[in-house]
Amino acid sequence: MPEAHPKPASERTADVIVVGAGPAGSATAYHLARSGLDVLLLEKTAFPREKVCGDGLTPRATKQLLAMGMDVSEEAGWLRNKGLRIIAGGHRLQMEWPELASFPDYGLVRRRDDFDEQLARQAEKAGARLHERCNVGEPILDPRTGRITGVHAKLGGPGVLSKDMTPVTFHAPLVVAADGNSTRLSLKMGLHRREDRPMGVAVRTYFQSPRHDDDYLESWLELWDRRGAQDKLLPGYGWVFGMGDGTSNVGLGILNTSSAFGELDWREILKAWCASMPEEWGYTPENMTGAIRGAALPMAFNRQPHYTRGLLLVGDAGGLVNPFNGEGIAYALESGAIAAETIVQAHGRSTASQRELALRAYPKVLKETYGGYYNMGRAFVKLIGNPKIMKLATERGLSHPLLMRFTLKLLANLTDPRGGDAMDRIINGLTKVAPRA
Ligand SMILES: Cc1cc2nc3c(=O)[nH]c(=O)nc-3n(C[C@H](O)[C@H](O)[C@H](O)COP(=O)(O)OP(=O)(O)OC[C@H]3O[C@@H](n4cnc5c(N)ncnc54)[C@H](O)[C@@H]3O)c2cc1C
Repeated sequence: MPEAHPKPASERTADVIVVGAGPAGSATAYHLARSGLDVLLLEKTAFPREKVCGDGLTPRATKQLLAMGMDVSEEAGWLRNKGLRIIAGGHRLQMEWPELASFPDYGLVRRRDDFDEQLARQAEKAGARLHERCNVGEPILDPRTGRITGVHAKLGGPGVLSKDMTPVTFHAPLVVAADGNSTRLSLKMGLHRREDRPMGVAVRTYFQSPRHDDDYLESWLELWDRRGAQDKLLPGYGWVFGMGDGTSNVGLGILNTSSAFGELDWREILKAWCASMPEEWGYTPENMTGAIRGAALPMAFNRQPHYTRGLLLVGDAGGLVNPFNGEGIAYALESGAIAAETIVQAHGRSTASQRELALRAYPKVLKETYGGYYNMGRAFVKLIGNPKIMKLATERGLSHPLLMRFTLKLLANLTDPRGGDAMDRIINGLTKVAPRA
């Protein structure tokens, strides 16, 4: 690992400013610092801090953690999972993660308060300068070009009154928005959410449970809207992820492609679902160890462009959640690595126009990597928004193990690009021919 940047030009200037130290921001800062760039990583909270999440990591995310040099051993407190268990239509199907050259054959589980802190510390170890309790506000713009040249921030929150916070400015020729779904920075740069992309909502809580050390991620495809004369299946799924610490993370995610979206109380649906589970699992109100909390899942590139006027968008800020399965961490980590690689190449160019040319490649690489796949995901979420199709899929699908293996690879985006099996070739072929919008 190269030495941490020895002498930053000044405490408040850098080659790159990364706003937000979630998975996307920490991955970006880690890879930039490893390449020798001087990076400021600005985070409004202080670690450890809660983040509403299912805490589940597929092999896709695991691969990125390995690429960041993280120790993901069980001795270091990680719970490994072997695959996915799907429950629907009276069936229960357990499938191992596929054996691939491109991805490990295990996933992980870790609470986000601890997980996000570990990633941020890894970025710090690589040389990134992390400022916690640093709330970024307005971008600083060059009045002539409209390019971002830094950010205004306030030091001291959360818990500190706004009047007692210290205003500061940070300067860099490039800024990365890694500030999550609400991405105030992107909004201030005029980048609004695209309404033509699917959006999900997810809620979760924790229970003390004997199922805490389950070594499969579990997904329930039947969530019901029971308000009308006829029960309707909702497009989404419920999950039960053992945390290995005496608790299970239990939650659900629903897509906005059903007519019921916006009318339903997700917390009530979660409570009703938990009440329908076997009592011995312990998913009862008295075993709940935290409040039910929820947040949005921004999917399928719902904010674009991913590069404009010195600002790059990574992770949820760029709407990178996978519409097929609601997974966001792997894509946050991967987009961080892609953004960092782009910036490193731009940084090494000798003229401003050459640098700009290199930076404009970032949205193109994202589209090449995910565009076709996300577009297929958009068609998929429209289809399952129809309760009849969702019902047919859950009732019939699970009785075909081969079809379900294919579905697992498709939904978790786990194929080998080269030399894979017939299923890999079909999925890769489809994502290549699908438009990349
Ligand atoms: C209920 C739920 C369950 C989920 N379950 C899973 C799952 O099991 N697996 C999975 O892969 N994905 C899951 N996701 C999605 C996943 O949580 C996100 O995709 C992921 O956190 C995105 O990472 P990020 O770094 O882009 O954003 P975030 O994790 O949101 O990080 C953004 C960071 O920016 C900071 N920040 C924000 N504003 C500012 C500011 N103004 N100044 C400075 N810092 C700022 C925040 O404090 C935060 O630390 C789930 C989401 C929800 C809501």
